[in-house]
Amino acid sequence: MSDELLTRLRRFNTDYFPQYQAQFKDLVDQGQHPTTLFIGCSDSRLVPYMLTGAGPGELFMVRNVGAFVPPYDGSSGLHGTAAAIEYAVLALHVQHIIVCGHSHCGGIRALYGEVPPEATNLKSWLELGREATLPVQLSDEALRRTEERSVVLQLERLMDYPMVRSRVEAGQIALHGWHCVIEAGEVNVFDVNLGRFVPASSAEHSGTGPYRAHAEEPGALFNEIDDAWAPKA
Ligand SMILES: [Zn+2]
Repeated sequence: MSDELLTRLRRFNTDYFPQYQAQFKDLVDQGQHPTTLFIGCSDSRLVPYMLTGAGPGELFMVRNVGAFVPPYDGSSGLHGTAAAIEYAVLALHVQHIIVCGHSHCGGIRALYGEVPPEATNLKSWLELGREATLPVQLSDEALRRTEERSVVLQLERLMDYPMVRSRVEAGQIALHGWHCVIEAGEVNVFDVNLGRFVPASSAEHSGTGPYRAHAEEPGALFNEIDDAWAPKA
């Protein structure tokens, strides 16, 4: 039986690694200093390195089903993503936090359906996206809007982390809400001023900026999903 994974591991070592050997050595000698925390869905079609052109040492990454952010107070009992956020902010001093959802997200779709009875962890985890769902008949449009609303919801929850909120308000951290349309190769970025997502190809910035302006009225940031995102019956 051929072992495809073993073949690929060997190929990494012989064909790929040599080009990056010096870079990896620097990253080991000097430690990692990534400037960006990337919170993305686990979906195999979402490829953060392709989207951002990032290489080794650039993205501190945490991925989970749905690209969800658990509550800071730990009430969900699920702490892996929360721990990564705390580490990225307090130890790595990242300057950007990206929450990246995507089109055709199985996690978001599952919010409108049933999960297998055995998947008790998945069932409780998905509740982190519940507030983004819409009381409408399921359609491609409803799913798209729910995916986008979920990204905003997770940004709001990020702002409940005291170490995130204080740095965002001080202009030290920029938040970015992204929705990747897989079939179009387009990333839509959430513009907090417009209250909607804008294609990166025509967006003025990649995130919530201009950050200084928002710092002057911190209460205005992410306290609630903007009216534009209110469920429409
Ligand atoms: Zn997904």
